[in-house]
Amino acid sequence: MRWRFLWPLPALALCFVVPWLPGLPPFWVTLGNYVGISAVVAIGLVVLTGVGGITSFGQACFVGFGAYTTAILTVQWGVSPWLTLPASLAVAAVAALLIGAVTLRLSGHYLAVGTIAWSVSLYYTFANLDLFGRNDGISAIPPLAIGGLRLIDSRLYFSVIWIGVVLAALATGNLLDSRAGRAIRALRGGALAAASFGVNTARVRTLAFVYAAVLAAFAGWLYAHMQRSVNPTPFGLNAGIEYLLMAVVGGAAHVPGALLGAGLVTVVNDALQDLLPKLIGTQANFESIVFGVILVLALQASPEGIWPHLARVRPQHHRVRPGTPALPVRSMPERGAPVLSVSGLRRDFGGLTAVNDVDFTLSAGEIVGLIGPNGAGKSTTFNLLTGVDQPNAGTVEFLGRKLVGMTAPAIAQLGIARTFQQVRLVASMSVIENVAIGAHLRGRASSLEGVLRLDRAEEAQLYAEAGRQLERVGLAEHADRPATSLPLGQQRVVEIARALCLDPVLLLLDEPAAGLRHNEKAELAALLDRLREQGVTILVVEHDMDFVMKLTDRLVVMDFGIKLAEGAPEAVRNDPAVIEAYLGSVA
Ligand code: ADP
Ligand code: MG
Repeated sequence: MRWRFLWPLPALALCFVVPWLPGLPPFWVTLGNYVGISAVVAIGLVVLTGVGGITSFGQACFVGFGAYTTAILTVQWGVSPWLTLPASLAVAAVAALLIGAVTLRLSGHYLAVGTIAWSVSLYYTFANLDLFGRNDGISAIPPLAIGGLRLIDSRLYFSVIWIGVVLAALATGNLLDSRAGRAIRALRGGALAAASFGVNTARVRTLAFVYAAVLAAFAGWLYAHMQRSVNPTPFGLNAGIEYLLMAVVGGAAHVPGALLGAGLVTVVNDALQDLLPKLIGTQANFESIVFGVILVLALQASPEGIWPHLARVRPQHHRVRPGTPALPVRSMPERGAPVLSVSGLRRDFGGLTAVNDVDFTLSAGEIVGLIGPNGAGKSTTFNLLTGVDQPNAGTVEFLGRKLVGMTAPAIAQLGIARTFQQVRLVASMSVIENVAIGAHLRGRASSLEGVLRLDRAEEAQLYAEAGRQLERVGLAEHADRPATSLPLGQQRVVEIARALCLDPVLLLLDEPAAGLRHNEKAELAALLDRLREQGVTILVVEHDMDFVMKLTDRLVVMDFGIKLAEGAPEAVRNDPAVIEAYLGSVA
């Protein structure tokens, strides 16, 4: 726990001590400098690829942006090297915003291929424009200097680089442990789930992309003033593949993994450059091929990378500090007031009409069951109400606002929260971290505040709220367990806690009791009953008729997309059409 906060101090001390260790060969110091520079790039990839799930082969380009910016400014404009650092970072950030605007619309493999495409074209831009000195690049870059001390000795420069590594690791750890970091991590649970809790997924992907680019540019700035010259070669696709290899081999989701990967790949690369010509007797660059093979083998042996094997990676423990002020809550509509009014709702999937002209209303503080056989259109209805899918026709009015056309985050902001039929928790996060995603919209802290750790008071409030909701659903004792280590039934209950974290007016529950044991179902029913007492409006899809009949005030029955019946549970149970279509099929 303490170590989490204290490690930078000994680490910084090491930055000054290590290069002066007696007997340390100068070659090792130089290698250490390369490892440090690569590690900064790989740490950026932890956020982008390991946590955000966005594979980029193009990080070397951003290293290039950082290096060329300072090269041009110092050599051609005579700007002092320290002053070019913000410029290098800013140029990369703007480039990442522009490149990201195009590339990040792609997904999966297309995105990875997209990063290859612009990385190749940027390489040729560096190599062919006079501004960048074409293939010769730019030389006579001034070294960094402190007072009169020029940092030319690689042992002096070692300290600069590794202070940079410590700062990058610190900033990244802080980012991942913040509201913005939680949003990046939430992408792993699926964009739909993240969006349903107010995460603007496009913005979050861009944030991760720009952050990784800025770290890469920082590495480029360090590189330019170490080499004192730049040319296009180290900023091409090969280098991009190497950076990705470092992150993945080390363990792409962990900052220490990036350090480990950078060290391993740099050392192996160096050894191969000695070894390969002796083995196969040519000078050609066969390292890339060897690396490609290593990457494939490593991923097959351990998709998580090496780091998780060395250290037991545990979710961070979130203790609720006593005296943390509660988050403000929204005012609930008066009991019985109209909350939701659905009219003529329709959704076609090709020839199939999944939701066909459906009407119903919900009033504040009632529990309505939405029932019907599999494929009736219940989950699709939920998707239409929450903005993760758009209807072909119809209107939805929530507390006087028209919802059709609004985005999922905007609808979440109005106070509609949901659970999913297919549980959508983030496997790499603990129970309470998953629940805290539900409180995303109740926090304000920016990513910068997260990086600078100015968000602690708010984070404490958000985690206190997550803890309170876990207590409410009876899972407080499991707060620090990895979310997907719970039985599936309890994972559904975690989803309810996450939804409650949004402070919802309307709660949409998609088969919440599936997989629960008898007494757990009774506890869930009691919880929903209490929520109703507190004025929450609930629409629940559930197949357990006993559960539904006892709990709900009204039922809406769907079959083949059509609303078949609506009314009090008893009346619906005796409705011949319902018995025919639904209960009849069970009997
Ligand atoms: P329920 O939740 O009532 O079991 P769903 O709303 O999941 O039913 O599905 C209703 C119908 O719509 C089903 O026939 C299903 O196969 C179809 N469906 C749902 N989502 C899609 C989709 N994205 N594309 C095509 N068909 C879909
Ligand atoms: Mg369903």
